[in-house]
Amino acid sequence: MKTIMRFLSIAAALCAIGATANAANFRTVVIDPGHGGHDNGGQWGRVYEKHLALDTATRLEANLKRMGYQTVMTRRSDYFISLPQRVSTANRYRNAIFVSIHFNYTWKEHVSGLETFYYNSEGQRLAQFVQSSLVRQTRTVDRSAKFARFYVIRNSKLPSILVEGGFVSNESERNRMKSAWFREQIARGIAEGIQRYRRAG
Ligand SMILES: [Zn+2]
Repeated sequence: MKTIMRFLSIAAALCAIGATANAANFRTVVIDPGHGGHDNGGQWGRVYEKHLALDTATRLEANLKRMGYQTVMTRRSDYFISLPQRVSTANRYRNAIFVSIHFNYTWKEHVSGLETFYYNSEGQRLAQFVQSSLVRQTRTVDRSAKFARFYVIRNSKLPSILVEGGFVSNESERNRMKSAWFREQIARGIAEGIQRYRRAG
């Protein structure tokens, strides 16, 4: 019995080391700007989620490159790509993480704030770092890191998150989103969260 317990505790320790090394060693960030082409995503007047997501993703890429990361974008301009295509791009990489960028929409116009979704435990760790950095950087309502079954984070084999950078349907958030400065703050918050996750191992 003692031997088995010892074996199990060693096995658990090895697993922990494996997970740690995996989280700490990634060099590549696969960035996935949500929607595109005929799929506008959330929309209010002329404010389209697909445009906000692409601009924020491009800013995130620039921030991450400055920090020495390699980056991959699932789309670089306004065209449609399917969810399976996004996942197959992500799953081509090893030692990488996956970050999908979206903006929220609801008919309840008063609802506001940022949230970060994950599917599994490694995604949860990443989501918690990114969410806390995002809230600190943007000083926006914290809707927290949450579990969800969204296709891209459920099917990607990488530690994966989906960031919702605020509500297009909320007037004050929409006005902030229209400014390049605010989208830059979101990009910086995500990049800082990724860096903190990597350093934490
Ligand atoms: Zn979306």
